[in-house]
Amino acid sequence: MDLSLVIPAYNEAESLPELIEWIVRTCEPLPLSYEIWIIDDGSTDATWATLLQLREIYPHRLRAVRFSRNYGKSAALYVGFQKAQGRVIITLDGDLQDSPDEIPALYALIAEKGYDLVSGWKKRRHDPLSKTLPSKLFNKVVRIFTGIPLHDFNSGIKAYRAAAAKAIDLYGEMHRYIPYLIKSAGFQRITEKIVTHYPRKYGHTKFGWERFLYGFLDLLTVSFLVRFGRRPMHLFGSLGVLAFLVGFLTVGWLIWDKLYQLHVYGRVTREVVQQPLFYLGLTASIMGIQLFLTGFLGELILRQSPQKHHYIVAEEL
Ligand code: UDP
Ligand code: MG
Repeated sequence: MDLSLVIPAYNEAESLPELIEWIVRTCEPLPLSYEIWIIDDGSTDATWATLLQLREIYPHRLRAVRFSRNYGKSAALYVGFQKAQGRVIITLDGDLQDSPDEIPALYALIAEKGYDLVSGWKKRRHDPLSKTLPSKLFNKVVRIFTGIPLHDFNSGIKAYRAAAAKAIDLYGEMHRYIPYLIKSAGFQRITEKIVTHYPRKYGHTKFGWERFLYGFLDLLTVSFLVRFGRRPMHLFGSLGVLAFLVGFLTVGWLIWDKLYQLHVYGRVTREVVQQPLFYLGLTASIMGIQLFLTGFLGELILRQSPQKHHYIVAEEL
């Protein structure tokens, strides 16, 4: 199969008929074999009933999964990626904000130009200011943090080499950092393409202002996992050794100084435990040991986890 379309849908019953019709209209003339995967993310409206009807109309094109409850966009994309059979995977939002007209060009960038990921850039964006402004800031921070020069990390429309999409472990709210995850998995050829964006026609957005707070926290989590997820001791151990040494040397110095003053000059100085520095040193040593033990615990947890054998194969002959 050449192309799989993966579409997460949470309460998008009104949009789906138009969206699927538009996709089929665009893809049918192309010399490609393709499938459409809709992941119903625990919708409480008529999304699933609509899909059952659409399945009658497009029995060979449409495939769908329904989650037992709402797990979030990351989960929906993850399952879609695992199900997809195509060599190229294109994701679209299920709300008609992304245009299926972009499909041929996105497909060509992966299949012919050899990119691993092409991320849609909603340059002219039809969303309220309360969303576009924080989003600009958010993208800037993520750009600096990850070193990937994209303008729009979180756009729903993206095209992937299948191996790259299947390589990433998406859960929680990690779909915001897909380009970073893909790059960290070793797929370096990443670019962006300006895409048309439409205002939401039906229904309403599923994300509120919390997205930015949670988004930043997730950025910390994701970057920690990418860098140290498989070698926690390197982070916690080095911080631990550093903190312990600082603490130990501080306290050592205080004791040495007291003895030196006493024996060389015969001066009786303040008790070691009456000096503020002593408590700082003590705290640093205790924190150091705790950080070190956290590193060991991290390694023990990793040892139990199947994740430790998650090696990504890019190609096979
Ligand atoms: N979505 C989902 N699960 C969720 C929230 C959203 O599958 O828990 C889907 C939603 O149906 C849509 C896409 O993710 O297809 C983007 O959501 P939305 O349009 O609400 O986000 P926005 O465009 O406001 O960023
Ligand atoms: Mg939307």
